[in-house]
Amino acid sequence: MPSYCPGGESTHFARILTKYELGEALKDFKKPILGTCAGIILLAKEIEGGFPGFSLERLDITVSRNAYGRQRESFEDDVFVEFDGERAVVRGAFIRAPRIMKVGKVDVVAKLRDGEVVGVKSGNVIGLTFHPEITGETFFHEKLLKLI
Ligand code: GLN
Repeated sequence: MPSYCPGGESTHFARILTKYELGEALKDFKKPILGTCAGIILLAKEIEGGFPGFSLERLDITVSRNAYGRQRESFEDDVFVEFDGERAVVRGAFIRAPRIMKVGKVDVVAKLRDGEVVGVKSGNVIGLTFHPEITGETFFHEKLLKLI
């Protein structure tokens, strides 16, 4: 990904958090979090190529932004979930999605058919590279509510 590539949503999240000085408060926020797509970028400990902004560093993963390509490479696919022993297949929308390049000390909770990791959990923080809400899936939002 070239360094001039506009980051999109995650860049704006980071800018707004910095501009309104909300970043530090959010770093102290220890209640359950569900981060989807740009959200998992903000939660990741490492972002390939760096990140010109604020990062919460709550998930021990390395992500690469826009790693599947541009908007026209966005796609929908089945996601195979194993969450606290519960299995499910949900439909995910990957919209200029980030890709998880390295998995550290986190639980893997979602994969694509070929085994690519697309969702992780660490304590009460869940990160997904896809949007479940666009396809009408409520699985992860229900899990978030149960964590609260
Ligand atoms: N590619 C976007 C980013 O880097 C994320 C896309 C999204 O959240 N749908 O922020």
